[in-house]
Amino acid sequence: MSYFKKILIANRGEIARRVIRTCKQLGIATVAVYSEADAEALFVDEADEAVCIGPAQAKKSYLDIDKVIEAAKQTGATAIHPGYGFLSENPNFARRCEQEGMTFIGPSARIIELMGSKIEARRQMQKAGVPVVPGWDGQLESVEMAVEIANRLGYPLMLKASAGGGGIGMHLVQDEEELIKVFGSTTQRAHSFFGDGTLFLEKYIQNPHHIEVQVACDAYGHAVHLFERECSVQRRNQKVVEESPSPFLSQTTREKLLAAALKGVREMGYTNVGTMEFIVDETEQFYFLEMNTRLQVEHPVTEEITGIDLVQLQIQLAAKEKLAFKQEDIEMKGHSIECRLYAEDPRTFFPSPGTIQSLTLPEREVRLDFAVKEGSVVSPYYDPMIGKIITKGADRDEALRHMEQALSSLQVEGIKTNVTLLEAVIQHDQFRKGVYTTRFLDELLTQKEVSKG
Ligand code: ADP
Ligand code: ADP
Ligand code: MG
Repeated sequence: MSYFKKILIANRGEIARRVIRTCKQLGIATVAVYSEADAEALFVDEADEAVCIGPAQAKKSYLDIDKVIEAAKQTGATAIHPGYGFLSENPNFARRCEQEGMTFIGPSARIIELMGSKIEARRQMQKAGVPVVPGWDGQLESVEMAVEIANRLGYPLMLKASAGGGGIGMHLVQDEEELIKVFGSTTQRAHSFFGDGTLFLEKYIQNPHHIEVQVACDAYGHAVHLFERECSVQRRNQKVVEESPSPFLSQTTREKLLAAALKGVREMGYTNVGTMEFIVDETEQFYFLEMNTRLQVEHPVTEEITGIDLVQLQIQLAAKEKLAFKQEDIEMKGHSIECRLYAEDPRTFFPSPGTIQSLTLPEREVRLDFAVKEGSVVSPYYDPMIGKIITKGADRDEALRHMEQALSSLQVEGIKTNVTLLEAVIQHDQFRKGVYTTRFLDELLTQKEVSKG
């Protein structure tokens, strides 16, 4: 295959290793870029070449567009895989790659920009006839304006940053008093995290499910879905455990949801791999939330049930190949679950950086997408997720059994992790029955607090 001879990976940790793995299989050479804090990291070692691009602070390394581009030029890489987070949804970076004659492995800068604004994305979807969460599609110019619109919509509401991501920059508001109280600080937070303080309002959907659809589109107008993922196990609006298929959706709703996702991406002329996120209420009404124009953290569960390598697909589509399969060719087989392992205190949720003194990994019936090994240092500078444990089975019960086994044989010493919390989720009756919503984890944590006295 002759897609690209050399790909630079503008990321770190488990996702950099994940991209390297597929490149090796395809015979593509890889370049890692890394910060001084990551000099000893596994992904640096595994890449064919590695370039140090600056100090630990992401702003001075992983987020520095000039340095990443310079490293690509210096090593002769002709394409850049951005992973997730960091520069992956930065339209300026995608544009810069285009200008430098390099291929950004993802959609066009125009699409990234469009979907990077949640307000703009909502407008696009409404145009395409895809239902969005009831709300306000303009930007809120002032707190007075927010109050007036909120009164029209009715509480409770989600006050959200248009540029938000990673569960950051949103606030549930129950009444006018609360809205007035948090408007300024939410604007500030959005500004400091995303460089854009624009906020908007959505109705707060009670007891919802987060269900998302994986899509893939080529440059010739063909679009397919790779089914859905249920991602309702969340803490602070961020996913912790994901699975595919969703144990909640009825087949009728599933078909409608998949069709709506495809309609949305076709209408905007999306290319490459992406995820349409939806919120689904108790009556199975679904509403578009946002689109992520990149590889998702939880992409492995989709790979496990479809047998399709999503990184390979990204590379092929970026090389302007046609989709090699039709919708009918994509089959969903079995069930897959993913747990995100965080280096954090399971009680306080404070990050727990340090050296991994010893690491015992599960060996059977498990896929491990890990950033670390024994002796690795977990840096305080980055996201504390150190790995993902993925299992599958012919059905959900089997996938659950494998996950229970995997978690019980996993042992990490030297740093704290959330493994006990993951076990509590997997063993919980509600989770086992598959009837959990985005409130599940908060409720579980409250129960644990109470039982501790
Ligand atoms: P996914 O949507 O793939 O489940 P997450 O929301 O967990 O991913 O985010 C994955 C990583 O990317 C996290 O480290 C998160 O902080 C980061 N991230 C996500 N969106 C943004 C954004 N808009 N700006 C900066 N970082 C982001
Ligand atoms: P991010 O860009 O941070 O991923 P999303 O818009 O995808 O933001 O929302 C993240 C999570 O926040 C959702 O999965 C859901 O649990 C919760 N959420 C967001 N909007 C709403 C809403 N209008 N009602 C209820 N929950 C919401
Ligand atoms: Mg989201």
